Formats: sequence, C-alpha cells, structure tokens
Amino acid sequence: MHSAELGNLMYYANVIVNLKSRQLDQLYTYRIPPHLSGQISVGSRVVVPFGKGKYIDGLVWSLSSQKPEFEIKAIAEKIADDYALSKSQLYLMQILRKRYAATYQEAYLAVLPSVQKLVKVEKYQVLKAFDDYQVGYFITQDKLLNCYSQTTIAKKIKSGQLKKQLTFTFKHKQKTIEWVKPLFNDLEATLATVSPRAVKKRRIIRHLAHIEGVSLSELKRATRATRSDIVALAKSGFLAFEKRSADDAVRSYLADDNTSISYPLSHAQASVVDDYLSLAKPRAALLIGVTGSGKTRVYIELAKKALAGGQQVLLLVPEISLTPQLVARFSAQLTTDIGVIHTYIRPSDKVAVYRRIKSGSIKVVIGARSAIFAPFKQLGLIVIDEEHEYSYKSETIPRYHTVELALRLAEKLSIDIILGSATPSLQTHHLVDTGALKALYLKQAFGSAQLSDIKIVDMTLLPKDTLLSSPLIDAMKQCFEKGEQVILFHNRKGYARTKQCHSCGYVPNCQNCAVPLTVYQGNSGLVCHYCGYREPQMLNCPVCNDQLTDIGYGIEQIKNKLATLFPEQIFAVVDSDLTHRYADYNAMLRAFQNAEIDCLIGTQILAKGLDFANVTLVGVVLADQLIHMPDYLSTERAYQLLTQVAGRAGRGAKPGLALIQTYQPQHELFKYVIARDFEAFIAEEKQLRDIVGYPPYVSLITVKVQSESQLATHDQAQKLYTFYEKNFKRHGIDAQVFQPIQPYYARIRQQYRVQILFKVNKGSRSVVLTMLYYGIVKNKYNLVDTNCWVDIDFDG
Ligand code: ADP
Ligand code: ZN
Repeated sequence: MHSAELGNLMYYANVIVNLKSRQLDQLYTYRIPPHLSGQISVGSRVVVPFGKGKYIDGLVWSLSSQKPEFEIKAIAEKIADDYALSKSQLYLMQILRKRYAATYQEAYLAVLPSVQKLVKVEKYQVLKAFDDYQVGYFITQDKLLNCYSQTTIAKKIKSGQLKKQLTFTFKHKQKTIEWVKPLFNDLEATLATVSPRAVKKRRIIRHLAHIEGVSLSELKRATRATRSDIVALAKSGFLAFEKRSADDAVRSYLADDNTSISYPLSHAQASVVDDYLSLAKPRAALLIGVTGSGKTRVYIELAKKALAGGQQVLLLVPEISLTPQLVARFSAQLTTDIGVIHTYIRPSDKVAVYRRIKSGSIKVVIGARSAIFAPFKQLGLIVIDEEHEYSYKSETIPRYHTVELALRLAEKLSIDIILGSATPSLQTHHLVDTGALKALYLKQAFGSAQLSDIKIVDMTLLPKDTLLSSPLIDAMKQCFEKGEQVILFHNRKGYARTKQCHSCGYVPNCQNCAVPLTVYQGNSGLVCHYCGYREPQMLNCPVCNDQLTDIGYGIEQIKNKLATLFPEQIFAVVDSDLTHRYADYNAMLRAFQNAEIDCLIGTQILAKGLDFANVTLVGVVLADQLIHMPDYLSTERAYQLLTQVAGRAGRGAKPGLALIQTYQPQHELFKYVIARDFEAFIAEEKQLRDIVGYPPYVSLITVKVQSESQLATHDQAQKLYTFYEKNFKRHGIDAQVFQPIQPYYARIRQQYRVQILFKVNKGSRSVVLTMLYYGIVKNKYNLVDTNCWVDIDFDG
C-alpha cells in the first residue's frame, strides 16, 4: 500500500482495451475496486467489462485520483503480474503511437509476445458445506453439472450455499496449421470425375496436383474457395485434412566452423572496443566494418562487458534463419543462457522465454525485429547487426522501423547501442553527420583474408541473350579445378519469369492479382508469388493453342544450364521458400560447408552474412535488375547488395573474385562498388537526396488505399488527396501531397491498390501525422469509405 501512505490513492485507471476498432481508439476509464486497491499500476494487465455482459482484456496506461464526470464501471480482475508490461515496452508503445500513428490496440498487440485469448472461467465457491464439499472449496461449472441439475444449483446459490465467481486466464493460441493433402495421382483422370461446371472444385484439384500439400488458409486464398468447398472434396475422398505444428527444428545451427573457440581480439578489433567504451554514456555508435572484418567478435566483446556489469544484452539480426552462423558464434562464446526469439517459436515457449527475460534469468536475447519488444529487466546493450537490412522495417501495421525504435529506446532509457554494417543505410549514416552516432571503423578484412577483386562483365559485347558470359564460366571452371566453391546470385525464383504466346501475346496471369505467373520446373507448375495461386504446367496457349515460350530466366534454369556445362559438379538453388524451411536450409548450408555442394545459386537472401572460407568466386548474373527498381532507395540498395555479395568471396586465406554481369557497365554505381568507396558513394547519394527532397532530408509518408472495388479504391484515394491538399494549403503546412498513383502491380490478392505520396518537411511532421491520424485512422471527418482499407507507411 505504497501510494496510500503517500496519501494520494489512485482510484481510477485509464485503460487500453483490446478492441479492434480504429474509430473507438481511446482510453477508457474504470474504477479500481476495493479488493484491488493499491495493486494496480501503470503496465498492469486487467480484465474489464465492456458492453453488455462482455469482458475484455486491457492494459493500464495511466492512473488518476480524480473522479470522472460520467458514470464508470469497475475493473473486474487483475491479471497476474507475470503478464504486466515493462517500462521499455510501455515506452515503445508511446513511440508507436506518436511516430507511426498506431492505435492504442495496435501498439498494445505489437508488444505482446503472442496472441493471447482471454478465457472466462465460471467457478463456484462453497459458502456452506454440502455433500463432500467443504467451505471455501472452488468447483468448476462442469463438475457441478455432472452431479446436480441446473435448478438445484440455482437453489444452492439462492440459499447462500454456493457463490458464482468469474475468473479469467489467458490461453495462448497454439500455432497449428490446418494442412490439406491431395489423395489423387492422376490429375486428368481426377478432373474427368468432376463436373465441368464445378469451377471451384476443379480449381482446388488443379491447385493440389503435383504438390505434397498446402495450408488450408493458403489454399483458400489462392483458389478463392471456401472451407466448405474444400471439406466437400475431402468427403469425396480427393483430399485429406491434417494438423501441423507451425514450429520447426530451429536449433540445428551450423556449429562446426570452430565457433566454440574464443579468439583474442585483433589489434583493430581491440581499438574499436576501446573507442566504443570511451564514449560518453549512453554510448551510441555505428560500426562501419568491411565484409569479413570481424564485426561479430567486437559485438561479443561488448556483450561480455555488459554481462559482467550485470546487464542484459539484445542482439538484433535481420532474420534468424539467414544468420545461423552469427547466432551460433554468439551462443558458443557467451557462457550464459541465450533466448532466441523468432517467428516460428511456439507461443507457449515464447511466453516462457519472455518470462525469463523479465525475471532476468535470460541475459542475452537474439532475435529478429520483434525482439525489441521483449520485457527486459535491465537492458544494458543493444547490438543491431547488418543494420541496413530492409527486414528491420515492419511489414505489418504499425509499420515501424526497428533501428529507429531501438535508437529512441536507447536514448530514453540510457542503454548503450551499437549498429554495424559494411554498407550502412544512408538514413543511419546521416545520424553520424548530426552527431547522434559516433562512427567507428574496421577497414580491413580479418587476418590474412583479402577483400575480393570486383570486376564488371560487359554483356553488350556478347551475343544477344547470353545468360552466362565466358569470363564467368571460365572463372567457375578454374575455381572447380582447384576444389573451390562458387556462389551465384540472381534475383528471380523459379524457372522462368513467365510464359508468353508468340502468336497472340497471351500471358498467364493470376486470377487474384494483376501479376504474371512464375514458371517452376517440372510438376510444380505456374505459381503466383503474391497469393500462391497455382496452375498446372501449360504448354499451349489456351486462347489460340499456339506454343507458349518461357520468358526471363530464373535460378532453376541457370542451375540446369550449369549442370550441362559442368556435369561433374553439384549445384543447388536457394530461395526464400527454402530458407523458411529451417531444417532443409541448414542441411544445405552444412552440405555446402562440407564441400558436398560446389555451387549455390540463389536469390539475394544469400547475400546475408554467410561466411565460407572456401568460396573464392561469386557471380552476379544480372546487376541491371537491381538498378532499375522504381524506388528512391534503389541505388542505395544496389550498392549494398553488390558489396555484400562481393563480400561472400575471399573470406579465407585464398583470394576472391566477384564478377558482375551487366548491360550498363558505365553506370556510376559500379565505380564506387569496384573501389569499395562507401564514403564517396554515400556522400554523392546524400547530395542527390537533399536536392531532390528525399529522406532523411524530408519525411515520406505513403498512404495506401485498397479494396475489392477498383472504383471505390480510386474514389477514396482522390477524396483523401483533395482533402489533404486543401488543408495543407489552408493551414500553411509545409508538406506536399501528390496525385494518387497505381503501384507497379495494381491488384494483389483481389485487392485493387492506389497510393498517395506525402513529402513532409521535418518541422511539419508531427502536425501532418496528427492530421493523418484523425483523418484516416480515426476517420473523424468520415473521409474513409468503410469498403476500403487505408494504411499509412512511413519513411525517414
Ligand atoms: P563480418 O561480420 O564483419 O563480415 P565476421 O565477424 O563474420 O565478419 O568475421 C569474419 C571471419 O573472421 C570469421 O570467419 C571469423 O571467425 C574470423 N575472425 C574474426 N575475428 C577474429 C579473431 N579475433 N580471431 C580469429 N578469427 C577471427
Ligand atoms: Zn496472385
């Protein structure tokens, strides 16, 4: 009863309720009942009555001693303190609201470890003994109903023998997936048994042909079928349902590359550590260290220092599955329990890990972006590895950027922070200019390793349609002869980009998206990368019956070509589908490590932090793909990717070579990439952004409108555009709004999409955000049509 002694007992709590309504986004005030007096504090989780006879979970956001004007209800129950939110979580929620226009509920759900379902349990307390039941005993409703009728129970309540009590618990939704498996072999024969008019059934059957299975949700989305359509097919014996657990074997990291040995720091590493430790607290630095310079060893040293001081350490990585080696090195060299947080961890396990983080028994946490929301007891150091990675930006609402959240959290709670990359993002590098971060450097690759040579292959000099140039093939040959390994990059999954009919121009498009279907090899057929829609392989044009031709090479096709050129060598393809199957991906990396595979051909996910000493050649099949993205970040990303890719070669004692094939050898970008002149590149790029007006010099906000109706989507966007245009002018706000435009793919997953771009001067940022929050999130002026979904995305 601390607060009572101080004489200002808080009687009222302002609560965030777990209610999904943007328009009702507000705090709700409840009375703290006598039995909870003094036990409720900011961050407590509670159950409150909401609406008639309904209960909902909520979070106490603030307390007050003043009675509100209106009549209020009392908090029903407090949830165990285990579930309460920590100071850092509460502060992060504030940023999510202020900086990313999140609703209270969106911010609340963002910091919770997993989906928690509030379960109401009705129990009866025995007030006067009867039969076998002693006074004070609690009996569940089910148990009572086993022995007594409803009327008997009602009588016992009336006579004061029993008292009904409500209690609440949380149930963690287990991530099980409903899985659908085909039970037929011959597609044509099976289709012959289904009525030609049963369009959906036929679509489902076609989707399932030649695949091992698919999750129910994906099947529904891809085929636009309902659950009952699919159940009907199960009844007829075409398919079967299965339950699958969503978690996978994740702990089998590569651990055989001497990870357990603790090396002393090199001279360069030691001086970075010294420089960092001599910064004023809270320390904040950006470690710019070329690929292979040994940044990990620096992080480990700093982590050890923080642990020695009794503090917790958070290591953020772009994606756990893509950084197995880093995780292994960290785990091996720190003799303390490490909590690993990733998407596929079972919710109950995640809750257990969260509890241990909260109690302080887990000292080191490694995780992807959401790990920033863990309830640290005493966080002393945040490390963000590969800080330039785009996966630090949230893909779902609220669309926060983890680097920004971490920097603000560190500042607010006086936590040390270090960001590291060979190619920092311009946004972060700008913070070195403003003095918010101190730049530290590791300019040389570790030990005897030499940075690889980067060379451009001019594809314009080669015969038309050359896929793999002779310099690249020759270099591969030499490499294989010496028993060394190769990594090839090409940013296209599957076999071919799509198919086309030469006579009539037909291209197979997705039914749900305005996107051409990607061709996969053999039985996998044609697949939409956006929604999973699938068609069996197509040879002839369904319109004019002429032959279809493949257009655009994918990694599977490159693999086939190489297998013919080098019949002795073993090739393997890696794409994001594989990296999502941890066990398979790890097995492949291990095989590569053991030289059972000679060459990996993969999409850009292979650029992330892999460290194999025997790789001496990397090739970029088509750099032009990277340069021509319609985005202000494309040059920066291309620089980062090419540099990171080149950094995969020559990490051991043997020299490395990177060959970049391109049709634009004169492009400015290559000059910087070859010279590895990050400073010059970033200086020039900053100048450009400043002149043209892009982040970090102005803020960009994209308002995304989508709905199933094309008309509604466009009308909505126009309405929002007009409203903000007018109001910015009227109130003299330093912000520009641009005419709505269609993104590259105008329809995805049956949703038409239109975007409105806002360029906002830094000084007007918060007023613009407020206007967007009231206009769009809360829909205060009825601007948003209920058939449309409007989302706000932030940059810089
Ligand atoms: P980066 O993340 O900067 O690209 P890594 O941290 O992966 O580089 O280090 C590159 C290689 O150098 C790794 O194989 C690592 O084991 C090795 N290495 C780094 N520091 C040391 C050290 N102090 N002693 C021995 N080996 C080291
Ligand atoms: Zn699609």
